[in-house]
Amino acid sequence: KPRAFSGIQPTGGIHLGNYLGAIRNWVLQQDQYDNIFSIVDLHAMTIPYDPRELRQRTLEVGSVLLAAGIDPERSILFVQSDVREHTELCWILGTLATFGELRRMTQFKEKSKGNERVGAGLFFYPVLQAADILLYDAAVVPVGEDQKQHIELTRDLAIRFNNTFGETFVVPEPDIKPAGARIMSLTDPLKKMSKSDPDPDSRIELRDPPEVIRRKIRKAVTDSETVIRYDEERKPAISNLLTIYSLLSGIPIPELEERYAGKGYGQFKQDLAEVIIQALAPIQQRLEELVAQPGIVIRTLQEGAAKARELASAKMALVRERCGLGLPP
Ligand code: ATP
Ligand code: MG
Repeated sequence: KPRAFSGIQPTGGIHLGNYLGAIRNWVLQQDQYDNIFSIVDLHAMTIPYDPRELRQRTLEVGSVLLAAGIDPERSILFVQSDVREHTELCWILGTLATFGELRRMTQFKEKSKGNERVGAGLFFYPVLQAADILLYDAAVVPVGEDQKQHIELTRDLAIRFNNTFGETFVVPEPDIKPAGARIMSLTDPLKKMSKSDPDPDSRIELRDPPEVIRRKIRKAVTDSETVIRYDEERKPAISNLLTIYSLLSGIPIPELEERYAGKGYGQFKQDLAEVIIQALAPIQQRLEELVAQPGIVIRTLQEGAAKARELASAKMALVRERCGLGLPP
């Protein structure tokens, strides 16, 4: 089975964009791939954060992933900072990455916009991501659309390393599903939904209770003409809500357009809120059980780290040799 690697940052509550663009596919593809999932806390340090909150969020993201259906019997699930090899390989790959290519990364440009003190860690983010992926010889990287550019850079770094030091890394392919790959913010349909958006109303979190979901959907921005029609160009807000509705209910978009022909946004939004509430109910129920037993989640993540460490340390021994690091044997 091809190896797949995916990461998620403990930067905030996991939302519908993460779920529809990434996690749902990770869960569905568990038998198809040999999976490694990581809660990438080192990446979460690249924007200002509270250290007391970070550990709590790491545990919470672990619980949500398990509740969403990641099965530790079939997949490795671990916390990035528990495996030191990620930072070591990051440095080595950083010596091959160029300033020019990192400066061109859209995520860096967007996250550093309007920020007076941009950390070098944010600049190096995609190099650490490349290390995460290459360390495990991942052939596929299931991600949302926003990560496409970073996977392209990962491929370039793998090829550059192989050409410089000899065949060492697998060159990975992104796995981006067309539907749900880019869920937009509820308050600004031109921005993607994000954990780190300061406005919590911009996203539906997997943990949101029904009342909160109803309120956020009611408040979600819509487009000027009140017709319910899919048109990303002219009606980005309604198109986004239609995408969410369709993916969570299994009803194709044309059928939804027909069903809501002649009806206003009010009824549509009311129904959408109920569809979301229903889809999240089983996840929330499992999550409640896991939150009551944090010991189980912690043990699962520690066992995952032990398995990941075994793979990572073998790979790094080879990398050090190829690069000429350390003393002759
Ligand atoms: P942050 O704002 O801190 O970067 P995020 O919401 O972008 O958080 P990440 O942890 O960076 O979440 O990404 C986790 C996974 O979710 C990645 O595979 C990413 O491509 C995917 N993803 C993130 N946002 C969306 C979105 N709006 N639509 C679809 N997929 C998304
Ligand atoms: Mg992100």
